[in-house]
Amino acid sequence: MKLLPYLCCLLAFSTLFGQEVNFTAIAVSGRSIQFFDASSSEIEITSWNWTFGDGSTATEQNPVHEFQSDGTFTVCLTINQVLKTCKENVFHIIENRLRIQFDDTIWPNGDITKLSSPFGPRIKDSESRYDFHRGIDIPGNIGDPIVNIADGIVRQAAVEGDPENNFSSTVVVIEHQMDTPILFQGILISKYFSISSHLNSIAAGIEPGVPIKKGQLFGTIGESGETNFPLNHFEIRLVVICSRESQRNGGCSQSTPFAEPTDPHVNPLLFLDYKAFNKDALTYEVVDENPLTIKVISDRPELDFNELLVSKDSEITKINFDERSGIDMNDIDNPEFNGVLIAPSRYTSSGGENYEITFTLLDLDDFDQIQVKDIWGQTTTVDIEPEIPEEKSFILPYPNPTQDVLNFNDAELSGTYWVFDTSGQLVLKGNLASEINLEQLASGLYYLKLKTKPEGKLRFYKILKE
Ligand SMILES: [Zn+2]
Repeated sequence: MKLLPYLCCLLAFSTLFGQEVNFTAIAVSGRSIQFFDASSSEIEITSWNWTFGDGSTATEQNPVHEFQSDGTFTVCLTINQVLKTCKENVFHIIENRLRIQFDDTIWPNGDITKLSSPFGPRIKDSESRYDFHRGIDIPGNIGDPIVNIADGIVRQAAVEGDPENNFSSTVVVIEHQMDTPILFQGILISKYFSISSHLNSIAAGIEPGVPIKKGQLFGTIGESGETNFPLNHFEIRLVVICSRESQRNGGCSQSTPFAEPTDPHVNPLLFLDYKAFNKDALTYEVVDENPLTIKVISDRPELDFNELLVSKDSEITKINFDERSGIDMNDIDNPEFNGVLIAPSRYTSSGGENYEITFTLLDLDDFDQIQVKDIWGQTTTVDIEPEIPEEKSFILPYPNPTQDVLNFNDAELSGTYWVFDTSGQLVLKGNLASEINLEQLASGLYYLKLKTKPEGKLRFYKILKE
């Protein structure tokens, strides 16, 4: 049985007895969503039955529901208990992050899923310089079709060199409305633009102001503008199509809800029904500890990395590509952001290769926890437990039987020290002069971690306090 007739049947059920079940929703905060019944009926609606896809239910007309974890949930509303099926909407919940109904969109380039350049920092081949790539590059052959990802209205369709063209290549810009607003930098957004550039041709009838359906062909892949191979440079911009610079210079005719000029670009994969969605979380390795260097690895056909969070004591260093946290917006094309050096590998379009991206936190030479997040909110977290090589052991009281003091008398030792119990819990921390006072600790076994001067090499000691 084909899927299409099944869809037809669902629609028929939905309109049974002059009833049409529908609802909308907005994000409240965290993972709380306010749902609104938007059903219509020729007979009075007397009951509402909601299921939220996480085992919870509600019977209010407009419930607020808090999801307990990130994930994808199918929310169903049934009215009057008459209909055999509920109206379904899929919600992708990420705490305090963008929420998208993936079902609303399709991939713009058919089977081509490997990207030649993902969203985020990269080395720009053509100029041998670094930049923050504000879209994804989908490579193809000249003339390959590009289709519209969701119902919308054409806002711009202009060929290269056209004086009305704000872009440097042949481009189509489509405006889309969202049924479910998404949260971006604390503001609810209900409008976004999809942009395809470097086109070879624009289809007949594609003009500003014209409605365009999901799946409708609007142009073909080309190499107009600044590129040396055929590709669809595809962007999603929230609220406006003008850059942050244009907003700041007053050259942007569209108003924005943000107090400050905001870079409107987000990772387009968030808006696309992408095949690689349900993969495991990203992996990473610590390449160097001084300064801390972390390599994030994606084994998917795209780089969907979004956030790196490193905790040291209570200080947190965060880099977030979508929200631009930790990235200096005035110098976004500089690989060094607030003490973070980002070194992307070159990305290629051939299959089977991992995407890798390396971060060196220039001011950080230690960490308690590292967290890596992809754009879907999947997280890899590793708490650092003390390594325990038996380099040197002390038995306290030592060396003076009246004091529980470790005396190093060693000018080579400096910086912070940490003392852990056998479960890895930090019990004492301080700045190392030449002695560490352990009087306040109960009897038992402890591990001391400290660093040598000046090269910062880690040393470990075992302490048995009697
Ligand atoms: Zn591009």
